[in-house]
Amino acid sequence: MADPFLSILHVEKSFGSTRVVQDFNLDVKAGEFVSFLGPSGCGKTTVLRMVAGFEEPSAGAIVVGGKDITRLRPNQRNIGMVFQAYALFPNLTVAQNIGFGLKVAGASRADIDKRVAEMLALISLPQMADRYPYQLSGGQQQRIALARALAPKPKLLLLDEPLSALDAKVRVSLREEIRAIQKSLGITTVFVTHDQEEALSISDRIAVMYGGRAEQVGTPFEIYNRPQTKFVANFVGTLNVLEGTVTDAAAGKVGVDGGELVLKDRLGEARNGDKLSLALRPEAISLGPQPGRNTRLAGEISEVHFLGSVIRVRVGVGGRTVSLDTFNNPASPPPAVGEKAEISFSSGDLLVLS
Ligand code: ATP
Repeated sequence: MADPFLSILHVEKSFGSTRVVQDFNLDVKAGEFVSFLGPSGCGKTTVLRMVAGFEEPSAGAIVVGGKDITRLRPNQRNIGMVFQAYALFPNLTVAQNIGFGLKVAGASRADIDKRVAEMLALISLPQMADRYPYQLSGGQQQRIALARALAPKPKLLLLDEPLSALDAKVRVSLREEIRAIQKSLGITTVFVTHDQEEALSISDRIAVMYGGRAEQVGTPFEIYNRPQTKFVANFVGTLNVLEGTVTDAAAGKVGVDGGELVLKDRLGEARNGDKLSLALRPEAISLGPQPGRNTRLAGEISEVHFLGSVIRVRVGVGGRTVSLDTFNNPASPPPAVGEKAEISFSSGDLLVLS
């Protein structure tokens, strides 16, 4: 990677005797949008707060633009932050909220007015300058919070679950707007979320966190299609896991409920009798034969969920249930529960999980 703009180096954090962040490492390039994705309590917010300066690391260092900022106070870091709860000042107007940081820094009235107008245009709320927070919707309040964070021209933007208090539709439109603004400004951004779809849709890269560590860092494509651990595979997207036993290591053969799979040279050091977990995404499985998907297993349809453009079908195969997605075809009736069905997939799409 080119010189990183933000480096989080071997960072640890303990509260009392509980270690909540352990040996966390991450490099973020200038202009990159990186998400921390993970379940509640995995340490996402704690890492973000250490970058912002609200928590001090127990060990390790944080470097921004080549400068070690680990011991600087938050107001010395030139970092903008947006929180989950809107956290606007209720007794200040929108314009006063946006201009707050500039005023504290001693900017002139004319400079503040100019910057506030620029920010209101950036977030597409030019008419809102004189309103108070209680007169705004949740989505509008979060856009103002973003404008307030960006007004002092920070080097780094930190967003801590900024969309989680909003309803689903606003959440989607605002995440697209945040991404567009971030790209137009080219500002390096770290975004915390526990929502995998959100992380997949807006990030350049994702750090999937578990137990205070970064389990895997990669592009959304890599995280979804090449998960390196069982946790990442299960946390991101829906997954079918087949438990297998190696039957012929030299030939790459693995026995699973309902059949035998051939994985050729993908078994690594495995020996005959070893247990393996093999996983498949629903979209990698077809109902019925499909060119290029040469592994076939027989089963029976146990559930059908019509989701609109996609139909999710569950098929019982050798004592377990496999989920697959098939596209809706308006010209033909959907599959029915109880029908005998053959599923097909390519053994090349199987993920071998450690
Ligand atoms: P969520 O998605 O629920 O916000 P998170 O991944 O952001 O979770 P953190 O808020 O970073 O998780 O918390 C990580 C762990 O550290 C949790 O177990 C939490 O209880 C603990 N923790 C956080 N702050 C403190 C604190 N000030 N004192 C003691 N424990 C804390």
